[in-house]
Amino acid sequence: MRDKDLYAQILGIESPWQVTEVELNSSGGEVIVHVKPKASSTHCCPTCGKESSGYDSRTRRWRHLDTCQYKTILVAEVPRVTCKEHGVVTVSVPWAEPGSGFTVLFEALVIDWLKEASISAVSRLMNLSWNAIDGIMQRAVERGLSRREVHSVTQIGVDETAFKKRHDYVTVVSDQEEGTVLFVGDDRKKATLKSWV
Ligand SMILES: [Zn+2]
Repeated sequence: MRDKDLYAQILGIESPWQVTEVELNSSGGEVIVHVKPKASSTHCCPTCGKESSGYDSRTRRWRHLDTCQYKTILVAEVPRVTCKEHGVVTVSVPWAEPGSGFTVLFEALVIDWLKEASISAVSRLMNLSWNAIDGIMQRAVERGLSRREVHSVTQIGVDETAFKKRHDYVTVVSDQEEGTVLFVGDDRKKATLKSWV
């Protein structure tokens, strides 16, 4: 299997997107995977879903799950389209949320770690700033809440490890059935959970 095919498969890159190049930057400890939509593909406005004509494209980067010991970066040429109603807009990509510099899979891994360890431990071990972790938590909650509107929660799970330093641990409330995050609280006080219920 060629490296491009391997990465397309492990990253779950599907048509119209394709992996065009895989670069190994061994001194920087990074694998850089370049992704582009096929030339013939059509794109839709992310707001109304209407097929729109191409405008230009922008290069964007996301951190993905590491490949062995290498930090893995996805770099894509993301098209912008002109929607009659919404103007020039960037199309959405299947691997990441708008406005995030991380893939959905990477964000899910961070949330899983936050259930087990303190924010400072996750920040140190995954080389992430507190701001980055905060953004990941906010998006997880938004995702969970938007799913909650179409699905009533029957069983919730609350993950918390030993209460140590205040504000360094978070309370993660998730929908057990769907596996989505519904709430991330700042620390592990009872009041934190009450503010969600
Ligand atoms: Zn539109």
